[in-house]
Amino acid sequence: MTSTLPADPLAGLAAERRIIVMIGAPGAGKGTQAERLAAALDLPHVSTGELFRQALHGHDPLGAKVGKYVESGALVPDAIVVEIVAQRLAQPDAAAGAILDGFPRTVGQAVALDEMLARAGTSVWAALYVEVASDLLMERLTGRRICTADDQHIFHVAARPPRKDGLCDVCGAELFQREDDRPETVRSRLETQLPPMYEIIDHYAEDGVLYSVRGDNPAEEVTEDLLRALATIRVGA
Ligand code: AMP
Repeated sequence: MTSTLPADPLAGLAAERRIIVMIGAPGAGKGTQAERLAAALDLPHVSTGELFRQALHGHDPLGAKVGKYVESGALVPDAIVVEIVAQRLAQPDAAAGAILDGFPRTVGQAVALDEMLARAGTSVWAALYVEVASDLLMERLTGRRICTADDQHIFHVAARPPRKDGLCDVCGAELFQREDDRPETVRSRLETQLPPMYEIIDHYAEDGVLYSVRGDNPAEEVTEDLLRALATIRVGA
């Protein structure tokens, strides 16, 4: 007897799950774009850094496990990160997909994500690389100035200069540069973070799911370019 159903009626649906990986150097605007895409595509924005910070502030057991890494800026061991992402992707709001921000950070994590998704009959739908030249990254990262009275008042010497040089527009207090925004620190952060990022880019390029867009345009244009890149997947699918 022949069935009218395809061999696996869920296969098509599973393939539609839109797991999108955001890739970008510090200062590339990846987090901003992740948020904008999440809103545009109605998918949850899953930032591992944010999940860890919430766990730390909520004093849950995960917070105790990751505190020493997150507070020192060291990478949390892969097994812990992979577990928290698996739990997050199992939540009902991620059934249709998610925008992953800050994960994977290593090829080991990328492979673990592939395996986790393969077990659920799916795969990474797209890896989006927000590409910004390293001299512009330096300018963006070292230009930040923060108010000494309220660290929520943030300026940038080029992109968002205060009306009066060195003074906060909101409360008039002096602005300062954070230690980790100083050129030497930024350079060493980039030197440690860029090589693993390039490995991840290669990983997704080999899988044929990598899409690169220029990250040096205004944020709205970058979002449009990313959405346009995603729209081409439909055609190819
Ligand atoms: P972020 O906000 O993405 O800079 O993340 C803040 C901190 O969380 C990092 O400095 C790491 O300690 C930890 N973290 C976030 N994502 C990961 C990841 N994919 N792998 C390892 N550690 C991570």
